[in-house]
Amino acid sequence: MTIHRPTYANAKTTLQTEITALRRRVARAHRILTAGGIWPLTKGHVSARIPGTDHVLILGHIHSEGRSLIDTDIDDIVTVDLDGNWLEGRIEPVDERYLHLEIMKDRPDVTSVVHAHPTYATAFGIAGVNILPVGNRGAIFAPQVPILDFDRQIDTPERGRMCRDAIGDGLALVLKNHGVAVCGDSIENATIATFALEETAQLQWIAAQVGPVQKISTGEVRSVLTGARKEEFYSHVWGHYARLDPWFSAPEQEHSNRGQVKTPAQR
Ligand SMILES: [Zn+2]
Repeated sequence: MTIHRPTYANAKTTLQTEITALRRRVARAHRILTAGGIWPLTKGHVSARIPGTDHVLILGHIHSEGRSLIDTDIDDIVTVDLDGNWLEGRIEPVDERYLHLEIMKDRPDVTSVVHAHPTYATAFGIAGVNILPVGNRGAIFAPQVPILDFDRQIDTPERGRMCRDAIGDGLALVLKNHGVAVCGDSIENATIATFALEETAQLQWIAAQVGPVQKISTGEVRSVLTGARKEEFYSHVWGHYARLDPWFSAPEQEHSNRGQVKTPAQR
């Protein structure tokens, strides 16, 4: 079977096409996290490294326009470098970009970061109790989610480095009286891990009302963190979260369609 691929005029066009696709995925993650209730008051942001560069796509400060993140579109996603300089885009990048950038600088395995303020996970930080690997979705957070005892905005490189040091090699960090940072090796996986963190925190809280909290066994954690189970952990649930996007359409029809909310029949 012959596979026909589009031919691009030059390498620059190819990169530009890839960046546009990446920007579209970052915008979609904002809409999905908003629809999933992961950031009350619609505050939070997602970033993605542009492969092969030290440039990062991140949300522009659309809050200053009074906009909800449920309407995030590709032109709301801007480009910065790893030092936080604004390179491209119509609106200034969010102040807390250093949270994303300082983690990415040190962690080549991290290509996407979500910063959010989910209720249950944030409450654990307020109480000073670490989120543990519990339930079906908690294994990826073993041995536990660290808490950064700092409640200000992460709006300087120094504060970003505090987060990087606190998260270490882990996937998630709780910022006391503030929110969370969650890492991924793709935009979709960082989004899924953010939902998983909030589900895990909620489950741990409920379990603690009933009796002593018992963690997932080390063997199960190892199993989920390696090989096929890891792939399964992410890929099997993306279809569910993708449909939270109010602009959801079948993959072959995906395009920027601000304002065109589909009826269930159209989906
Ligand atoms: Zn924040």
